[in-house]
Amino acid sequence: MMKYGDKGFVLILSAPSGAGKSTLARILNGRHEGLLTSVSTTTRQPRPGEREGEAYFFVDAESFRERIARGAFLEWAEVFGNYYGTSRAFVEEALSRGQVVVLDIDWQGARQVRANMGGADVVSVFILPPSHHHLVERLRARGQDAVEVIERRMAEAAAEVSHWNEYDYIVINDDLDRAGDELAAIVTVERLRRGRAKGRIQDILETFGL
Ligand code: ADP
Ligand code: 5GP
Repeated sequence: MMKYGDKGFVLILSAPSGAGKSTLARILNGRHEGLLTSVSTTTRQPRPGEREGEAYFFVDAESFRERIARGAFLEWAEVFGNYYGTSRAFVEEALSRGQVVVLDIDWQGARQVRANMGGADVVSVFILPPSHHHLVERLRARGQDAVEVIERRMAEAAAEVSHWNEYDYIVINDDLDRAGDELAAIVTVERLRRGRAKGRIQDILETFGL
């Protein structure tokens, strides 16, 4: 296993709902060590099989507003009529341990994270399905959402996709294996950046008396 530096970064994954973000995030976790996926807090209802603390922490609107008021969120946004937010403490602790923190958030959240953290520690990836048609098929195939929920998500897909040019990288999720490889490659090259190399090269530099 290659030894990486000791400085973590935030990896933002955004995509229209159903493009395969959660699936790709799972694949990525299997390909890299030291990755941690942030568990967001949401006011949406759990889907069948979704357990508290796994995909999300489920709270009511009052509790969500209280968290906003005490600054508990690094970012938060209203998406499809529900509130979603990322815990500031979770991200800061993981970064200080040198981990790569994966955030599955929408374009509004991505903007806030870039603004709140500064550019250097934020890497963002936009995931596109091969077409709008594929997206519709995948949302239906997932089979976990009611028809009106799927329709709302389809209606808002173009709005999410319109923000593709705010991201550092674009991955097209046609073949899942290839898209997984590309995402893993992004994490590899970002870990190799000079700015994150200190811990990795310190011992080598010392052998040169540097
Ligand atoms: P998101 O998290 O972006 O909403 P999911 O990861 O839940 O999307 O994927 C939506 C559906 O599409 C799931 O049923 C998943 O198995 C399927 N899927 C994901 N990637 C692909 C792919 N490359 N080809 C075909 N189906 C896919
Ligand atoms: P879902 O309800 O399908 O799990 O997620 C719906 C949308 O909310 C997705 O686009 C997802 O990226 C976004 N989302 C999930 N968690 C967060 C979050 O903490 N912050 C923001 N801004 N968006 C989120």
